[in-house]
Amino acid sequence: MVELEVPRIIICGHSDCGAIKAILHPEKLGRIPAVSRWLSLGRDALALLDDGFKQTSDAERITRLTKLNVLSQMKRLETHPSVIWRLRCNDLTIQGWVYEIHTGRVEAFNPQTGEFEIWPD
Ligand SMILES: [Zn+2]
Repeated sequence: MVELEVPRIIICGHSDCGAIKAILHPEKLGRIPAVSRWLSLGRDALALLDDGFKQTSDAERITRLTKLNVLSQMKRLETHPSVIWRLRCNDLTIQGWVYEIHTGRVEAFNPQTGEFEIWPD
């Protein structure tokens, strides 16, 4: 088990992410077992995406899946025993960001609104 002595962990997704595209279109990935296993971490996010985003464009689905995957990885991290303890002690914060590479814009997840918002606001 790894313990990090940091006050804040940022889970940062990004635009034009090859991993997100591969999760959305696994048929284009071919047979790369190690990569497929790693990408399986994104299945939780994909399940959420398919609830409401069947009709949208591929670009919108990629953006939405990028954000859902950040939230999913935050939730996964929050289940780690040492993280649970530090969150209870208010000793650690976990933030979710999405970085848009071509503009440099960052959207940060706001737990109060449940939305990603442009940062700094
Ligand atoms: Zn990526």
